[in-house]
Amino acid sequence: MPSSPLAIRIAIIGGGLAGAALLRGLLRHPHLTVDMYESRPTFRDEGPGLSFTSRAQGILTAIDPELEYCLDRAGAVSATTEIRVAAGPHVGREIEINGFGESCKKYVSRQAFLAEMLNHVPPHMMHPGTRIASVTELPSEQGLLLAFADGSTKKYDIVIGADGTHGFTRQLVLGTDESLVKPHSTGFWGLPIRVPLQRAQQLMGTRSLDPSNPRHVCWIGDGTTIIYDLLDNGNEVQIIVFGKADDTGEEDGLSEPSWAKLFTPDEFREVFSSNSIPVCQGTIDLILSVYTVQVAALCLLEHHPAPTYVAENICLIGDSAHSMLPFQGASISLSIEEALLLSTLLGRLSSKAAIPAALRAFDQLCRPRAEQATRLSAETGLLIAGRAPGIGLNADLLQHHLRHKFEFLLNVDIEAHRTAAVSIMDQLLGVGAAWP
Ligand SMILES: Cc1cc2nc3c(=O)[nH]c(=O)nc-3n(C[C@H](O)[C@H](O)[C@H](O)COP(=O)(O)OP(=O)(O)OC[C@H]3O[C@@H](n4cnc5c(N)ncnc54)[C@H](O)[C@@H]3O)c2cc1C
Repeated sequence: MPSSPLAIRIAIIGGGLAGAALLRGLLRHPHLTVDMYESRPTFRDEGPGLSFTSRAQGILTAIDPELEYCLDRAGAVSATTEIRVAAGPHVGREIEINGFGESCKKYVSRQAFLAEMLNHVPPHMMHPGTRIASVTELPSEQGLLLAFADGSTKKYDIVIGADGTHGFTRQLVLGTDESLVKPHSTGFWGLPIRVPLQRAQQLMGTRSLDPSNPRHVCWIGDGTTIIYDLLDNGNEVQIIVFGKADDTGEEDGLSEPSWAKLFTPDEFREVFSSNSIPVCQGTIDLILSVYTVQVAALCLLEHHPAPTYVAENICLIGDSAHSMLPFQGASISLSIEEALLLSTLLGRLSSKAAIPAALRAFDQLCRPRAEQATRLSAETGLLIAGRAPGIGLNADLLQHHLRHKFEFLLNVDIEAHRTAAVSIMDQLLGVGAAWP
């Protein structure tokens, strides 16, 4: 079917959570023609589970009312958060955080949620197994030319880089400065595993993993964190353990950061030796029953703050814009905020000439929040790994510093942000604000 003369052609590069959420938002605007490209053969994301606060669930609904039901269809579990100290003089003490009350968050398998999000997207818009090799700007404002790995090409008016931490689109916006383009080591590593409920209960006990009283539990250790919760309607247990190495492993600051941190089983057990909480030791036993020869954890990377997320008609979202430590669940909260704001702004385009204004409005609103989240996630990481200078494993100080850390995400007024984004776009276009 030929597209209408007003149709604006958008390519999303990367079919992870950020790309998929944006696609759902853009689908609601018939004058936008969207293709989403994913290099993997299927839209699979087997990474760690995701958490959605009630505010984040509201943002999903604003992107598309159907998305909130996707959480339930994906087996999301509502759980109460519990944070405790696992080592040191205050072992066992609970740390309370504002806003994390009764069943305040939903925990979901990201693979199941991604599958639900893409379930009703017209198949012709989704292109798995399609790696984008390059993007070139065409002369005379003709748009952008995407080149595929098989040598074929296609023209678009807007390219959205949603290709994650190691994607190539960051370079399209930020140029060749490697310190801006490449992520760097943080010294943190993480190891997520998922196991059936009964198997986890055998080693961790039934009290900690009770489907009738689901809890998201976080144990703050000496340089380590152990987190567990229930997914898949309570049938599965997700465990993520984190550690903080004393150095980042980047000796000269120029070499490529490592992707993995390897331990022998004995070395791994030793990392958690100061944590004698039975459920935590059960968690380590469980991990070592999976990794019997070598334990391979993921090195956690982050980007330096970027001076911009947009070029004339290219825009970065999700981890390609701002990889950060995952400790507040901030990455996904921000990605869905970005999907909502960007789809709102692009949905208002009435001509191709307005594209740069829409993207600049997105940048002005979203980049400062991502920078704040990156900083707070890094601070939170040190706190929940018991490694914050002057605080360590002191429960009173941990309580004091963690209590308000999460509020800027929990309390976001997304409608006010939407109004502000539209007003910035209108100012850049020289028209009076007209929203809603
Ligand atoms: C151990 C660990 C625990 C975490 N826990 C949490 C958590 O609890 N909460 C949270 O919010 N976040 C968490 N995160 C972070 C979260 O995983 C990321 O923020 C999120 O996955 C980023 O989504 P994205 O869509 O931006 O990028 P990605 O999920 O990385 O998706 C990018 C996609 O682009 C594709 N791609 C790349 N290059 C190309 C190309 N050239 N052409 C086509 N496709 C391409 C890739 O195949 C990939 O599918 C955690 C991360 C780790 C490592």
